Amino acid sequence: MGRDMSTGAGPGSLAVPAVQGISPYVIGKPISELTRELGVTEIIKLASNENPLGPSPLALAAAQASLADTLLYPDGNGFDLKEALARHHGVSAAQITLGNGSNDLLVLLAEAFLDGSRNAVISQYAFAIYGLVVQATGAAAKITAALPVDSAMPNGHDLQAMLAAIDAETRLVFIANPNNPTGSWVDDAALRRFLDAVPDTTLVVLDEAYFEYAQRMGCTDGSTLLSRHPNLVVLRTFSKAHALAGLRVGYALSHPEVANILNRVRAPFNVTIPALAAAAAALNDAQQAARAVALVEAGLAQFQEALPALGVRLFPSAGNFVLADVSAGGLSGQQVYEGLLRHGVIVRPVGGYGLPRCVRITIGTAGQNQRLIDALRQCLA
Ligand SMILES: *Cc1c(COP(=O)(O)O)cnc(C)c1O
Repeated sequence: MGRDMSTGAGPGSLAVPAVQGISPYVIGKPISELTRELGVTEIIKLASNENPLGPSPLALAAAQASLADTLLYPDGNGFDLKEALARHHGVSAAQITLGNGSNDLLVLLAEAFLDGSRNAVISQYAFAIYGLVVQATGAAAKITAALPVDSAMPNGHDLQAMLAAIDAETRLVFIANPNNPTGSWVDDAALRRFLDAVPDTTLVVLDEAYFEYAQRMGCTDGSTLLSRHPNLVVLRTFSKAHALAGLRVGYALSHPEVANILNRVRAPFNVTIPALAAAAAALNDAQQAARAVALVEAGLAQFQEALPALGVRLFPSAGNFVLADVSAGGLSGQQVYEGLLRHGVIVRPVGGYGLPRCVRITIGTAGQNQRLIDALRQCLA
């Protein structure tokens, strides 16, 4: 009774130590929160790598039509969506696991393949969720140093270092291709050599959340490598180019035995009826994703033209976002983030990733990009 909620002496202290040690994932600031804080109205959010063009009209119509069925539980096996994905990728439905976003699959992979006696290999600056899901299981995270900032792929995954870090107890190695927040990607030939060399006691989790955008940089289509590598797990999502982030649907492509294992720990109804319907329909609209890719190419050119002139260093990116070193004038990434907030522009500070000189900026519409450029000019002046 009456115990202090903040000291950690209450019921929270009953949690397993591994979970008590976790610092929560920091999400991009929601627009509604900034409105409450500043009373600013014309706010743009370039902080969570969302696609400003929105979803395919086909996906929205399918989601809307599905609402009439929502008195029922969803199809827990996701039959229709899996069939559509199987056709799309040329794999069997038995190789597919659906998730409540691909984040769900990261949790399931950690739960199923890790415990306190095992470890996972992760690159410095990799997507933060990898470390969180590993930590929650009590497994060790072996973090390998990223490629140097002055290398051909600044801050990127060092596949040789990751390979060297794998030991007999390593069950998962995470490769984000491209990685968020760095935008870096791995060379196709290097990835193939890596897969050939990884022992079959380690699953390679190849996170292709930005696959559609990454094609322009020649990034590998991991789904084509599954037949050669039974230990490969490819993650895809409808949150990014397909613009269905709010519905939460992603999937894993893997060996059927891995899918079978993931299905044992998966919540039976982890993907909702509107999400299943929208995702299947989105697959039929290749044009919507193509428009998103074109928008990103144009936006990247817009940034490359304007931002270096302000003293901002842009790192190469295969995603729909760019990591920007904004520190030349002496401000930290956090300070620039706060300055931009006052102009109603939300970007993502990445000090928590160990990149205190940088912010991550999602590429928006031409108008949104221009607002970012103008606001940044004022902040840095
Ligand atoms: C956004 C993102 C995801 C997944 O998001 P979901 O919405 O959970 O599908 C996964 N990996 C990376 C690297 C991401 O940036």
